[in-house]
Amino acid sequence: MNARPKKSFGQHFLHEKRYIERIVSAISPRADDFVVEIGPGEGALTLPLLAAAGKLTAIELDTDLIPDLKARAASVGELSVIHSDVLKVDFTALAHRHGVERLRIAGNLPYYISSPILFHCVEHAHAIQDMHFMLQKEVVDRMAAEPGSKVYGRLSVMLQLVCRVEPLFVVPPGAFRPPPKVDSAVVRMTPLGADQLPDADPARIHTIVKAAFAQRRKTLGNALKNVMDAQAIMAADVDPKARAETLSPQDYVRLARVAAE
Ligand code: SAM
Repeated sequence: MNARPKKSFGQHFLHEKRYIERIVSAISPRADDFVVEIGPGEGALTLPLLAAAGKLTAIELDTDLIPDLKARAASVGELSVIHSDVLKVDFTALAHRHGVERLRIAGNLPYYISSPILFHCVEHAHAIQDMHFMLQKEVVDRMAAEPGSKVYGRLSVMLQLVCRVEPLFVVPPGAFRPPPKVDSAVVRMTPLGADQLPDADPARIHTIVKAAFAQRRKTLGNALKNVMDAQAIMAADVDPKARAETLSPQDYVRLARVAAE
């Protein structure tokens, strides 16, 4: 088909077979999986995923792509398309509606809203088995960064507190039509079990992490002064002279617990 890719929808269609195969093999869909694809586009991933899983639910915002996608999928498996902005799709309700415990989510994401999509998905982490996403490599680096790294920040802490984040492989611009300006990478995110989740209010963790990284050159004592004082920071076993990027995700959980006292 070869529709003209729309910049406003972040359309960069994958065409290199070996990368399509590597992504599908990383996902390894099985016949009883409930696979949800975000942004199927022209179906580069949809059709092989559908062939392996037998059925698939795809969420696509661009109406123009849907009829052709459905026509091509008809002989491959049972494709259901939700025409919507993915940020408006309630994944928990979708799983309930289909009587499944956990969804497997995948997608070569539209880069203009990649962070909002990641945060939207982790809000529904309890209804998700795993996620495989193509993103800008720079975003994957930030997601998986460890304390002390230059790119460790809010995204790293907030995602690592609820998911295991595994960068899988890099995909060069030439694998897409049109080529994006930057390298891309595929990442796997696996939601943690209930017993591994932070034992503190998520909203409070978010407030603290946001304040800490908003002024990452300042000491924590300074950056958090509107949220908690130096004594409270010390009570969480954290040095108020430390900087945001040196704290582990668990340090932030302890700060949130003390701030709630
Ligand atoms: N999966 C295809 C591929 O790999 O060739 C297309 C990937 S392209 C990078 C991103 C896709 O997401 C496009 O099909 C685009 O129309 C769709 N999209 C953009 N914004 C969206 C949104 N808010 N909700 C759902 N889909 C969206």
